[in-house]
Amino acid sequence: MQPIELTKNLIQYQSTSYHELELVQYISNLLSKAKIPHTVDEFSPHNYTHTQNELPKTANLYVDIGKSDKALMLYAHTDVVSAPKALFDPVIKNKKLYGRGTCDMKTALAGLVHVLLTSYEQIKQTDKRIIFAFVADEETSATGIKRFVEYYQTRVKDISCILMEPTNDFEQIHVGGRGYIFLDLEGKMKDILSSFRAIKQAKQQILGQYPDLQDGFKNSTIELTKISANDTAHDFLTVQGKACHASKPNLGINAIQQALSQYAQIDYMVSSKTEGPNSLPSKAYVVVDNQELANISATAHIDIRTNLAASKDDRLLKDVMKLISPNLEVRTRDRGNAFRVPDTFTNRITKGITTEKQIAQGGSDAPYVLELSKNIIPGFGPGKTKLAHTDEENIALVSIANTPKIILRNVKFSNN
Ligand SMILES: [Zn+2]
Repeated sequence: MQPIELTKNLIQYQSTSYHELELVQYISNLLSKAKIPHTVDEFSPHNYTHTQNELPKTANLYVDIGKSDKALMLYAHTDVVSAPKALFDPVIKNKKLYGRGTCDMKTALAGLVHVLLTSYEQIKQTDKRIIFAFVADEETSATGIKRFVEYYQTRVKDISCILMEPTNDFEQIHVGGRGYIFLDLEGKMKDILSSFRAIKQAKQQILGQYPDLQDGFKNSTIELTKISANDTAHDFLTVQGKACHASKPNLGINAIQQALSQYAQIDYMVSSKTEGPNSLPSKAYVVVDNQELANISATAHIDIRTNLAASKDDRLLKDVMKLISPNLEVRTRDRGNAFRVPDTFTNRITKGITTEKQIAQGGSDAPYVLELSKNIIPGFGPGKTKLAHTDEENIALVSIANTPKIILRNVKFSNN
């Protein structure tokens, strides 16, 4: 099967987070027919996340070639973000393939499967240990990678990883990742508002300690992204902001923060329901004089992004926690430390090719793998970064054809 046909087949599975099982079974069948040993690692996502919702069983799939203690892991996640049904019916137009997952990241997945189907024996004959890891649920709660880390903790001593997340058709290579911490707060409205006000007032001074060092990690950020309450106020004032992704707050105006600047005393505030917790709210609804509302229960969210200095010893997180009222319950929804890949590993992978080194700005599964290794490239893959998760998601056919070649090259130069 040609890589394009394989990519199309993989796209047709609506494998949104926790619904990867059928896709995994399809890959497993292909491998079985080719007599390639593999492990379908079924698990219950419930055991790796705190959500109360019912979650179906899902699975990772591993092809583990070679015996060495030193391994190279080639990674693709099997899930995609949800999309209109039509996007699961891939179409070719103007030498491009359109559909959900073409960029993020079924082309990479197809490339890895294709390499296995065509070059398994060849890889086996080298002395290298290569682990092909097809991991579930990257897009929602990272249960698949947590399962992977648990599984491999005792099975490998020294592992290097390449996560084949899209980096503009291999034009860039991610050599580190910005850190992130997402906090969920719960308690009385007045305690949320006093905490938010304290953070807002101290923010510039705190962030000043962790400036942009021009090393690709940029400055650190703290954004108060969302407040919700069951009771709705009737006579509220509307404060207008401008939405944007919380990792780039300079592109928007945070309506919650705007409201705190505008009114010295606020008894009630909620932000627009459809925005956050990882974007800035474009609207805040405020009541300034109704102390009854100050006691209602509410939830709120904070989005923190860290560079290396802010991430070290959780410094920035500790600064923020000091400002949060002890009356509130605080939970970490997700987090990852800022990290940089040692040059020795990156240089082996980039030897002889032109690719720009960058720090990944968004979250990925990479921080979880830090438990096993420092040699983790969080992104080096086919697909345009900016098209991921959009309805226009597409990939050039030439890029689909090139992907298996680059994978084989990575296997060759990994030198483990
Ligand atoms: Zn992805």
